[in-house]
Amino acid sequence: MADCLFCKIAVGSIPSERVEETERVLAFRDINPAAPTHVLLIPKEHVADSAAQIRSEHGEMLAELFELAARIAEDEHLADGWRLVTNVGAGAGQSVFHLHMHLLGGRPFGWPPG
Ligand code: AMP
Repeated sequence: MADCLFCKIAVGSIPSERVEETERVLAFRDINPAAPTHVLLIPKEHVADSAAQIRSEHGEMLAELFELAARIAEDEHLADGWRLVTNVGAGAGQSVFHLHMHLLGGRPFGWPPG
């Protein structure tokens, strides 16, 4: 999408601190980290604005995304635990409307979240 920040990061026209990528998924560090490890995982293609638009056709990309998240968690030594979060809608804190997941780790997390 022309005016989407994460589409621009995906193609490299806006710089990011890339962590890893696969065929369909890119992982890069959040510019405003909420934990010692805070990595964003996005589909390179703008397949959905948020998780509310996920359909079964996105299954393979999502499996790739989860697998990559687990690999990064291992690389970042998050054996104590890590969290994957996706915000849906402004009321839940979503600010970029290109499907993404936050991989958070390196500190304790409470439950339920605040
Ligand atoms: P959300 O609020 O769930 O939509 O998450 C969007 C995230 O993108 C926030 O945590 C921001 O800190 C992060 N963010 C915004 N701009 C950039 C950028 N240029 N590079 C990396 N992360 C960004």
